[in-house]
Amino acid sequence: MLQKLIAGNWKMNGSLAANQALLADILAGLAAQAPACQVAVAVPAPYLAQVQQLTAGSAIALGAQDVSAHASGAFTGEVSAQMLGDFGVRYALVGHSERRQYHGETDAAVAAKAQAALAAGITPIVCLGETLAQREAGETEAVVQRQLAAVLDVVGQGVTRLVVAYEPVWAIGTGKTATPEQAQAVHAALRAQLVQANSAAAQVPLLYGGSMNAANAAQLLAQPDIDGGLIGGAALKAADFLHIIAAAA
Ligand code: PEP
Repeated sequence: MLQKLIAGNWKMNGSLAANQALLADILAGLAAQAPACQVAVAVPAPYLAQVQQLTAGSAIALGAQDVSAHASGAFTGEVSAQMLGDFGVRYALVGHSERRQYHGETDAAVAAKAQAALAAGITPIVCLGETLAQREAGETEAVVQRQLAAVLDVVGQGVTRLVVAYEPVWAIGTGKTATPEQAQAVHAALRAQLVQANSAAAQVPLLYGGSMNAANAAQLLAQPDIDGGLIGGAALKAADFLHIIAAAA
């Protein structure tokens, strides 16, 4: 069986001092008990160099929170996949709901970003999920399958190097978590879609994200199609993040 992946998304939080303190506590915890899963942190772009240095040689892989679809040129403010690669970035979130919602990222834009990451040897963590209104209208499966199809149509052979994170929008940062049964049902639908697209895609890790915390992680991670977690708020507290990592054994 594949090792699970626990990825922290720091969002727009941190400072040089806070990052150092947080990572010192996480690294001490991991030194005391080696993780039985893969661990990553997706950090704000200005801190990539700092976190690369602080996590060098450790079990923590470096992640970015976004990546440009473009290789270089007149795209002020954007960061290319190759630039991320210069800092040892292994994972890049693409299509996080906050970027879809506040930055108007479309399914096509998300697919282009995933493809740019793959071309630079970075594994995209493709985030998708339904809003509360879509869930209440019974559209959850259709929405997430449309979001995933947009990426699968573009990445072709890269499909085996994806990670997919199912993050119901209504559960992100709200303290409301999908029940293990709700999450498993969506993950099973996504798994079926991946396998249908490409039998090798059966191995694509499917993470759950949305108010996962120390108290609910074990039950969510016990579901057969939940291969890890994408953790926001709880990734900013070393004890909680370590607890979730321990639950992913
Ligand atoms: C996220 O930002 O991807 C996330 C899941 O946030 P939270 O855990 O805070 O809901």
